Amino acid sequence: MSALFPTLTAAGKGAVRPALRFGDRALSYGGLAAAAGLLAGRIAGAGRVAVWATPTLETAVGVVAALLAGVPAVPLNPKTGGRELAHIVGDSAPSLVLAAPGDELPQALEGLARVDIPVAAPGGGALPPEPGPAAPALIVYTSGTTGPPKGAVLPRRAIAATLDALAEVWAWTEDDVLVHALPLFHVHGLILGVLGPLRRGGAVRHLGRFSAEGVARELGAGGTMLFGVPTMYHRLAEAAADDRELAKALAGARLLVSGSAALPVHDHERIAAATGRRVVERYGMTETLMLCSLRVAPRPPAGARVDAGPRPGSVGPPLPGVGLRLVEEDGTEITEWDGETVGEIQVHGPNLFTEYLNRPDATAAAFDGDWFRTGDMAVRDADGSVRIVGRKATDLIKSGGYKIGAGEIENALLEHPGVREAAVTGEPDPDLGERVVAWVVAADPARPPSAAELADHVAGLLAPHKRPRTVRFLAELPRNDMGKIMKRALADGRADV
Ligand code: ATP
Ligand code: MG
Repeated sequence: MSALFPTLTAAGKGAVRPALRFGDRALSYGGLAAAAGLLAGRIAGAGRVAVWATPTLETAVGVVAALLAGVPAVPLNPKTGGRELAHIVGDSAPSLVLAAPGDELPQALEGLARVDIPVAAPGGGALPPEPGPAAPALIVYTSGTTGPPKGAVLPRRAIAATLDALAEVWAWTEDDVLVHALPLFHVHGLILGVLGPLRRGGAVRHLGRFSAEGVARELGAGGTMLFGVPTMYHRLAEAAADDRELAKALAGARLLVSGSAALPVHDHERIAAATGRRVVERYGMTETLMLCSLRVAPRPPAGARVDAGPRPGSVGPPLPGVGLRLVEEDGTEITEWDGETVGEIQVHGPNLFTEYLNRPDATAAAFDGDWFRTGDMAVRDADGSVRIVGRKATDLIKSGGYKIGAGEIENALLEHPGVREAAVTGEPDPDLGERVVAWVVAADPARPPSAAELADHVAGLLAPHKRPRTVRFLAELPRNDMGKIMKRALADGRADV
């Protein structure tokens, strides 16, 4: 494996190229190499460092510095509550915390020595040699959607492999300018969104906070790619319907990517209708980095319209280097790709994590030999594309002898004009085993559609046994920082019912 950031460490004539911009603060490759190099020198030899991962230039410099120094970094979510933060800090046991000068750190970090992250330095210092490909680079905590977050130990090799596979299928080059508005403490925003462009030698423009206006402005001013999560595309779909500037900016982007959770078909179609462009989905996990996405042309072919792009609901075939199989409950591998038979996605490849930190039990349980069990259920179409049905634990409802995926019912509900947001879960039922329950945010809370109307709507679009038996209306769905629906909170009755 070559250096993680060849453009950064080579310096020389590329040094003036733009690397990072957060709001009105920016660094060229030369500036980044100097600042991160200075910090790398200060932290070299530390066992492990935490990074207070606000959406700022400092976080990017801090993580790059740790990678240059060969010190494993643990990005911390600044919005995490005290108890969860204390758990993560106790679990990962960093010896230092890197933070922007002036940032106030919570009590859970008080015992740690603090090092301020510089964003300017004279440069010229020598860097230590890079560690080998198996060395741990980052410890990233999972999103905590299904249980307490687990620390995935990611080797340098996994980061390089996933970024190079994406570069190949997305035709991602040094000419790309990424418009970014995601948080920097998960894989999507940090590894894809910051380390990805830096490995290619391209640029990042971070909005600080997501807004449709910010996306329109940056895509309109030279941005070529947008990485987002479904809640962002939902807002873009709503705004682009009557904002011509935004629709034009989205239409002009080279690549619109959605990931971290399934993009509802309704939003996918609304963006296609407003812009003539289809969003490309990618599927991945903290533990495995990226697993599937579609191959795209460097530029959309002239005259290509909506029907030329990806099919809604499909995350595409496995990425180069990724081994992927679907396995049925009884352990048999599905070898005929009929687009119907549901199995668990299992994967292997150089993109995988090495272990869950301090959790040999969980690590052992997650593997079948070399194969990592994702816990996600899917079908494969004849062309090898993967369509995710949902998570084994929360999205597969066993009702009346059928196995029903929550996702298709959610998509059907979202097509009803009276529904703004929807989540579907299973609840124990004496007759059916489990019963389909719909949690709905009404488009007009004063006039929600009736439960019977929604049930008939679903039965009409899908099949009678998929009709929700119970409909519960909420003011909003419980979501985590990535906008993922916390089905646990719905099931536990912690949502605002
Ligand atoms: P935890 O493991 O702590 O419960 P999490 O699984 O949400 O949280 P992540 O590693 O951030 O933590 O998310 C990976 C999961 O996100 C995948 O297992 C999958 O369920 C879901 N996911 C990611 N991308 C997609 C996608 N394009 N379509 C559907 N689901 C997706
Ligand atoms: Mg997970």
